[in-house]
Amino acid sequence: MKNITIEFPGVKALDEVSFSTETGTTHALIGANGAGKSTLMKVLSGAYNHYTGDIFLDGEQIVIRSPKDAQKHGIQIVYQEVDTALIPYLTVGENILLNETVNDMGRKQIVNWKEIHRKATEVLDSMNVNVSSKRLVSELTLAEKQMVLIARAILKECKFLILDEPTAPLSHSETNELFRIVRSLKEKNVGIIFISHRLPELFDICDDITVMRNGQFVVKEKIAETSTNRVIERMLGQKLEDQFPKHNVEIGETILEVNNLHDTEKIKNVSMHVKAGEVIGIAGLVGAGKTELCKALFGASKKTSGEIVLKGKTVKVNNPHQAVKQGIALVPEERRKEGILVTEPVFSNLSAANLKQFASVFSFLNNKAEKAKAREMIGSLGIKTPSEETRVQNLSGGNQQKVAIGKWLLADADVYIFDEPTKGVDVGAKKDIFELISKLAQRGKAIIYASCELSEIIGITDRVYVVYDGEITKEFVTPSTDEEELLFYSTGGK
Ligand code: ADP
Ligand code: MG
Repeated sequence: MKNITIEFPGVKALDEVSFSTETGTTHALIGANGAGKSTLMKVLSGAYNHYTGDIFLDGEQIVIRSPKDAQKHGIQIVYQEVDTALIPYLTVGENILLNETVNDMGRKQIVNWKEIHRKATEVLDSMNVNVSSKRLVSELTLAEKQMVLIARAILKECKFLILDEPTAPLSHSETNELFRIVRSLKEKNVGIIFISHRLPELFDICDDITVMRNGQFVVKEKIAETSTNRVIERMLGQKLEDQFPKHNVEIGETILEVNNLHDTEKIKNVSMHVKAGEVIGIAGLVGAGKTELCKALFGASKKTSGEIVLKGKTVKVNNPHQAVKQGIALVPEERRKEGILVTEPVFSNLSAANLKQFASVFSFLNNKAEKAKAREMIGSLGIKTPSEETRVQNLSGGNQQKVAIGKWLLADADVYIFDEPTKGVDVGAKKDIFELISKLAQRGKAIIYASCELSEIIGITDRVYVVYDGEITKEFVTPSTDEEELLFYSTGGK
């Protein structure tokens, strides 16, 4: 790709970007949120036709102005938003062969279901993926859905496969499974272009790396000849300072106290507390029950017994509405599903938690005051958006996360619960999020920070509870522990 430039109203998303890669290699594409990675790959896969610049394949200029053009040249993409690319009420097989069946029907051929499942099973088998072709896509996990999309992509001749942040929502074992597939595709001489924010994994599976910043190409290097710190500095365009803000906050009264909490699913006998100005960590591996605990505290799941005491008073938190009224805010893990309304503009998302009618219809909210507040928040959080009217779905992952957080800052709660807030977020935005949390603590808020990133728990919290299989198995004052010890207890050590 040579000198690719593309503009959207108010943003020059790509500015004369050049990019090159080869079949049989895995190429990492990295950059802060909003750097233009997704846009560049959308150009390559034919999602846009209003760009300028040239694309060459094997030295010959080719025209890519539609997904069909890209596919004709063997270029396939698996988008960041897995769900939008699949039809939930069709089977795995039908989804894999979707384009085929549609074409066939266009030509008025009879759809041969047996053949569809046979072909789909063949591709899934070739990937060593154990998902039945006859299952409904709606029943699949996110990781399985991704496999279906990859199967669809490699069904036809596939020279280049683009994976846009595929590992962001995956657990460790799911990530390893994906890497296995990436490696085997590479062996079959497919060129993989891999967008991710997790540097260690890029260094693990990639051969080359291209760094982008602010819609521009920064550098292309061999993975073997660079380092994570070097890449991060190139990404940020500045020297790497300490990621975690130093905060020395005076810790106040106990704000939230939880006694012997049980839920119907996972949580067993949890007792914990958090004080004003304190950041406490909920450390645990994926599946330990961190999300369930956060939900229980926010009234988003059913509790069977236990007591929640807020500022000395026993309170009922049986649903999110009561939680919000009482001053408890949750920035949920699955922010795309629960935290924000992606089809609504930025400003109405920011004011959502402020409303008396939590989670109701926001359409009436078109007044100047709301927008002015939203603009203030966009500025102070550094949300990268053309305007407060832009729909949240057009923002990058880290900026969506900032919107999810910003909405609660406007609401001004006493207790802030963050569930994996840095998942799928780049280093630059991570730093912003840590700073935000530190500022909240300075304002005397009580913070609960749930994460499986133990380095973050160590970096940002004052005290940690380790969760294993739905129970708190250990408590530490953060300075007296380290990642290794947290990992020991997180994996069930005693
Ligand atoms: P990345 O994938 O590196 O996080 P993107 O390619 O998604 O970044 O975005 C680059 C810039 O272009 C961002 O400022 C983003 O808001 C903007 N942008 C991307 N797609 C659109 C669109 N469809 N409409 C308006 N702006 C867009
Ligand atoms: Mg992106």
